[in-house]
Amino acid sequence: MDRDDFDVIVVGCGIAGLSAAITAQENGARVAILERAPKDERGGNTRYTESFWRMKSEDAVSEDFEDRFAANAGGWPDPGIVRDAVRDREDQPAVLRALGMVDPNLIATIADEAPKALKWLKGFGIKFDFLPLYFLSQSTTRMGPIGGGLALIEALGAYVDARPEDFEVFYETGARDLILDDDGAIAGVNAVRRANKQIAFRGRNVILASGGYQGNQEMLSRYVGPQAQFIRPVSRGGHYNRGEGVRMALSVGAAPCGDFSSFHAQPVDPRSTDVEPVVLNYSYGILVNDAGQRFTDEAPGMVDATYEEVARLIMAQPHGIAFAVFDSKLDEVENWPVTVRSRVPPIQAESLSELANAMDVDARNFLATMDAYNRACTASDGFDPLQTDGLSTTGLAPRKSHWARPISQGPFRAWPMICSNCFTFGGVKIDERARVINAEGDTIPGLYAAGEVAGIYYRVYTGATSVMRGAVTGRLAGGDAALRRNAPG
Ligand SMILES: Cc1cc2nc3c(=O)[nH]c(=O)nc-3n(C[C@H](O)[C@H](O)[C@H](O)COP(=O)(O)OP(=O)(O)OC[C@H]3O[C@@H](n4cnc5c(N)ncnc54)[C@H](O)[C@@H]3O)c2cc1C
Repeated sequence: MDRDDFDVIVVGCGIAGLSAAITAQENGARVAILERAPKDERGGNTRYTESFWRMKSEDAVSEDFEDRFAANAGGWPDPGIVRDAVRDREDQPAVLRALGMVDPNLIATIADEAPKALKWLKGFGIKFDFLPLYFLSQSTTRMGPIGGGLALIEALGAYVDARPEDFEVFYETGARDLILDDDGAIAGVNAVRRANKQIAFRGRNVILASGGYQGNQEMLSRYVGPQAQFIRPVSRGGHYNRGEGVRMALSVGAAPCGDFSSFHAQPVDPRSTDVEPVVLNYSYGILVNDAGQRFTDEAPGMVDATYEEVARLIMAQPHGIAFAVFDSKLDEVENWPVTVRSRVPPIQAESLSELANAMDVDARNFLATMDAYNRACTASDGFDPLQTDGLSTTGLAPRKSHWARPISQGPFRAWPMICSNCFTFGGVKIDERARVINAEGDTIPGLYAAGEVAGIYYRVYTGATSVMRGAVTGRLAGGDAALRRNAPG
């Protein structure tokens, strides 16, 4: 069965897809939305996020926005090539236009457009505020919609549902590959429905908004490596994102962008069925692997700025698991329960050797680790859980830089922790209109990417910017695609 009665075809129904679809409709287009999930699970990652936006007010992104993106640009880009990034895109050499990098023009566009996207969302009845977080201290400013990502999906989804003449949503429909015409322009997308029924959506504008590949173990093994066997999506929504958007675009020649070997990592309790069951109290205790050994500085800085690196190191441990270990002094940290979103009780014991047995770690190593750590906690004054306090270990490798106090007063507690995958960083390169750039540095006519499909992150995630990326790039794509439907050719 073929369909050819849509101006714009949107793949995916999260914040990026819904923002794209509605903006296209607001500009006069009739829109098809293809969504792998059934209706009551639509919304991918967006459905489960608290959706913090890195903003200092409704009118501006955080002070550190562009600096953090620059600092998180990864590797060592060739200065002879990236120096031309300050030029307008048309004046840049093709080698730069196709280069995978944190594109300062795109980041500046996201910063400019984020307040407009926020105001646009408020038009659907969504309210933003400075909401409580699961960090006891934070290094930047964040706002969020009241009701989180689910509120976004419900409000935008209701708008779509109320306008069947403008939108048709195809649930349980997975996009598979793109159709190109003889001139290299987009001519549609092939999809598969229940019972392996094939369906072709023919049209000149396709917006890929189908998330990353966090739900695709084959791509994760290829790009992240063998330790990827120990990670899993942080929420149910991530399981639907199996990388077709990225793969389809690459297969028609898109330039890759974003760090394919990396992803936004969060430390979670593997036993929990809660959404995003993060364990972020570990900086007040120590981390050991299942051989009973420490492997990292548990407190290199504010936890919101460093937990991702720590989570990656947990993935790198022999079985991809660690334990956060505490004594009774954890209770001296006011409000610490907000930092643990797993509702499964910790492993508890009266002595450290009983704790080792209950955790099923090598008891000899574990007791030696605890002894070495406790002896290295030489300073005792000045503990301040709300800021980096410089209370560090002495003569211990790896050292613990802050909040280092002996772990010696029972009862003892431990939470198991694994590294979860919030979303992958590898995607495709887009311009400031969310048009997909090919490996020659030119646009692929009619092809757009929004949200996680548009790669902008390297190494470390600039926190609280992914929903914003989805809303902004979705709106850019939807607006441009709707205008393009009337263009000749
Ligand atoms: C628990 C949690 C907390 C988070 N916290 C924050 C935060 O505070 N701030 C922040 O900025 N970000 C946060 N994130 C990340 C952020 O939510 C996502 O990166 C963002 O919402 C992604 O939006 P998207 O539209 O690109 O993808 P998604 O919302 O994942 O939507 C993709 C959609 O595409 C569908 N799909 C996938 N493949 C296909 C296919 N082949 N065909 C058809 N449909 C397909 C999926 O079913 C899904 O509905 C968090 C994520 C999670 C899970």
